[in-house]
Amino acid sequence: MSIPPPVSSVQAEALAAGVLPPVEEVRPGIWTVAVPFRGGVPDATLAYVVEGADGSLAVIDPGGSGDGALDVLSEGFRAIGRAVEDVTLIAVTHLHADHLGAAAHVRRVSGAPVAMHAAEVRALEHERDDAEQDERDVRTWGVPEHLLGGVLAAWGTGRRIGSGATGAPVADLLLADGDVLPIPGRSIRTLWTPGHTGGHVCFVDEPDGLLFTGDHVLPRINSGIGLGGRTESNPLRDSLDSLAALAGFAAFEVCPGHEYRFRDVVSRGRELVRHRDERTRHVADALDRLDRPTLFEVASRVPFTGGIGALSGYLLGSALRQTAYHVDLLGRADEVRPV
Ligand SMILES: [Zn+2]
Repeated sequence: MSIPPPVSSVQAEALAAGVLPPVEEVRPGIWTVAVPFRGGVPDATLAYVVEGADGSLAVIDPGGSGDGALDVLSEGFRAIGRAVEDVTLIAVTHLHADHLGAAAHVRRVSGAPVAMHAAEVRALEHERDDAEQDERDVRTWGVPEHLLGGVLAAWGTGRRIGSGATGAPVADLLLADGDVLPIPGRSIRTLWTPGHTGGHVCFVDEPDGLLFTGDHVLPRINSGIGLGGRTESNPLRDSLDSLAALAGFAAFEVCPGHEYRFRDVVSRGRELVRHRDERTRHVADALDRLDRPTLFEVASRVPFTGGIGALSGYLLGSALRQTAYHVDLLGRADEVRPV
């Protein structure tokens, strides 16, 4: 896959060096603050701080709550001459702990409302039911006995999709497609982009030419699909539609949730579509060649990085779920034999 060049060389250099990039002013009154998660750098989440015309202060994806992230976030606010206590709006692209995790803390100290898509709130409320259903699914996939325990631990009832230990997740403001964030003097619009999770949103700042993409599109990482709650629709289909929805934003500077800012989200989106199409072809080929295979047998024919034999636990479960989405997209679910 070709990788888009960075707009922010500071962020790209920090990523290469394995250190957190410094706070950067992206546009007048808009900053990016990198916060660590899961053991820290280079796995940083990029939080964005947006100042309103009246001095109000929104934060898009405040990041995680562990690994010293809250301290780093506070330092970031200090670097721009403000404090976390000044925040007046917390807008979140999706429910994952590395984006939403700090929201409860920021809300507590600032009193700011948390804004999130309604589907994310539903997913958090239904987390336990979804996990039980996921566990029943996993048991039908034909995972070899010695690997089943690891997949169940990562994808069954033990799994936490949301903000985990940070306390009950809250949303004070439910976002829907097209909603404009309440930041005086700014015009930042919600763009619903399901796929990575069912209620994932991007934020479009037309006047500043910025597109905040969360985990929908990242410059180097091919982010996973269907990693929120269970959805009625096929997350793979959703993700392809959500990539198509970015067609008008080629000229925008992309502010992703990880890695570094880049340009031309349309080319990057095309690469992701090509990658997913290729997977679909491999799955179709496996179904053509095998007679009533299990899902595991289908996935064994798909060239996942390193091959499926190299995968276990979370990554194996993810590969199998992706395979199921491709089978479903092909309309060939009845050709797979549940165990
Ligand atoms: Zn995510």
